Amino acid sequence: MLVFAKIKSVQQKIKSLKKGTSVGFVPTMGALHKGHLSLIEQAKRENDIVVVSIFVNPTQFNKKEDLVNYPKTIDSDLSLLKSVYCDLVFTPTAEEIYSNNIQSQLFNFDGLEHQMEGKFRDGHFDGVGTIVKRLFEIVTPHKAYFGEKDFQQLQIIKKMVQKNQIPVKVIGCDIFRENDGLAMSSRNERLTKEHRNAAPFIYKTLKQAKIEFGTKSALEIVDWVENEFKNQPLLELEYFEIADEETLQPIKNKNSAKNRAFIAVFAGKIRLIDNISL
Ligand code: AMP
Repeated sequence: MLVFAKIKSVQQKIKSLKKGTSVGFVPTMGALHKGHLSLIEQAKRENDIVVVSIFVNPTQFNKKEDLVNYPKTIDSDLSLLKSVYCDLVFTPTAEEIYSNNIQSQLFNFDGLEHQMEGKFRDGHFDGVGTIVKRLFEIVTPHKAYFGEKDFQQLQIIKKMVQKNQIPVKVIGCDIFRENDGLAMSSRNERLTKEHRNAAPFIYKTLKQAKIEFGTKSALEIVDWVENEFKNQPLLELEYFEIADEETLQPIKNKNSAKNRAFIAVFAGKIRLIDNISL
């Protein structure tokens, strides 16, 4: 496994590959867990070589303390990447990516950016768009893999690729969960024991909402979920929405579009997100 911190060296290495070699790419912010590894394993199956980036992107954090507290576990990340036969790791510094100008480009994602996470994380998706576009330019992958865990992000990246005509196929991967249903996340490590024990309620509620969607309207289910969380002293619901997967616009009643339920919850100071296809 080769590790590069410089743009020039990673580009040279990728350019030196034989014509016809397919490159799969998995961008991450490190603190890797089995959810990340499942993306890398899928990329390994579908490409000749796999590139993983580890970069905690400053421009996508709307709260400075989240950026400062973001876990950094590079040694264990590299050994996990070796264990799944990752070929190439790109670990740039912020200066390498942004030079002296740590700022986002401004994007128009046709309104996808104003829904759900966009309402609570100002500028977040401009930061995500900026870094992913830059990484795509550097790595020039054939396919890029993103988790459905961050479903809104996945749709926004598909939109960015389409609008900018970037020649990469964006692939959404299933959410990888703990045995008790909690979606794996680097943030789970920061939960207190009490909050960790309470957190599986999030997915339990999503699964129940999926069942209820068979007989109830979206508005009734939103009401039901909001009430359920009122009885959970350790979990504070930020939003629960049922939305069209393509537009991410909330729906009131069942329709012919593919729908998905989305949730964000505070477990103490830790913000957790999850979603389920309906
Ligand atoms: P992050 O390092 O948190 O930016 O995540 C890097 C990639 O891994 C993103 O595409 C995430 O959606 C994906 N990811 C994170 N957690 C999971 C999970 N539990 N299951 C599947 N993909 C995930």
